[in-house]
Amino acid sequence: MGRLKAVKPRLAQAPSRVAGSGIKPSTVGVAHPFSTRRGRKVRDAVVQRDLCLCQMCGCIVVSGRSDPRAAIVDHVRPWRLMPELRYVLSNLRLVCRDCHAVCLSIEARFAGDAEMIAAEKLKLTHQT
Ligand SMILES: [Zn+2]
Repeated sequence: MGRLKAVKPRLAQAPSRVAGSGIKPSTVGVAHPFSTRRGRKVRDAVVQRDLCLCQMCGCIVVSGRSDPRAAIVDHVRPWRLMPELRYVLSNLRLVCRDCHAVCLSIEARFAGDAEMIAAEKLKLTHQT
């Protein structure tokens, strides 16, 4: 605990990566939405709804983290930009790890603009 107290004042002085990024300051330092019990339930619901299929490339996702087809539930509109959508099913979709990397590059390219990010991601939707 002592260490955390020492770090906090220094963090407050550090240049903010939040300013101008669109990241809601209220989400800084907050645990990932899926680390909570509610979040895990929501994530599981998305995996079921999406039938274990990556919604971008159509592959069958697998459990675990390291496989290129590992299941990841993506926030179409990033939760740090729109925390109110972090548990909203319509803002979530199942993707594989490879496709999630594409999602992250889109988020970097359109940093701060949740609607542009969503539009670009949704262009990459697998047609069944
Ligand atoms: Zn995929």
